[in-house]
Amino acid sequence: MARPAARGIAGLITERLVAALGQEAADIRGFSVRDWTDDAWSDGAYSDVIVKPGAIDAEDVLRKGLGPVRFASSELSLSYPGYVEGAIWAGKSAARTVAIELGATAG
Ligand SMILES: Cc1cc2nc3c(=O)[nH]c(=O)nc-3n(C[C@H](O)[C@H](O)[C@H](O)COP(=O)(O)OP(=O)(O)OC[C@H]3O[C@@H](n4cnc5c(N)ncnc54)[C@H](O)[C@@H]3O)c2cc1C
Repeated sequence: MARPAARGIAGLITERLVAALGQEAADIRGFSVRDWTDDAWSDGAYSDVIVKPGAIDAEDVLRKGLGPVRFASSELSLSYPGYVEGAIWAGKSAARTVAIELGATAG
């Protein structure tokens, strides 16, 4: 069996899909690959990257916001950070904070 790099990642995945699901699985309509290794923004990871280990209050500072600005992201979530669930939690939390600050009543 040839090494993955020689066959290409698409070939390898197709081969494994066919082995698991049958020949129909070879009928792939599209194939997209993203190599995060050299991505300047992700720095090789799909979640947050700690670049300053001493900044232990960074998340608290961001969660607090500045003036009327509030941040909400999965990485700032107190629940399931790094997951979609965390993003939803952070969004709801930030929205609740803004609503309270604006004096809105629960609806
Ligand atoms: C490959 C991969 C696989 C994953 N798998 C899973 C999984 O199986 N399960 C799971 O729960 N989570 C998974 N995640 C994580 C999940 O996708 C994220 O945690 C979630 O999408 C974060 O949501 P968010 O709203 O915080 O940020 P994002 O979804 O990143 O949204 C931020 C948005 O802001 C936009 N933006 C950025 N800068 C600007 C700007 N200057 N002006 C305007 N817009 C801007 C971006 O375009 C983006 O649309 C995965 C992530 C990746 C990358």
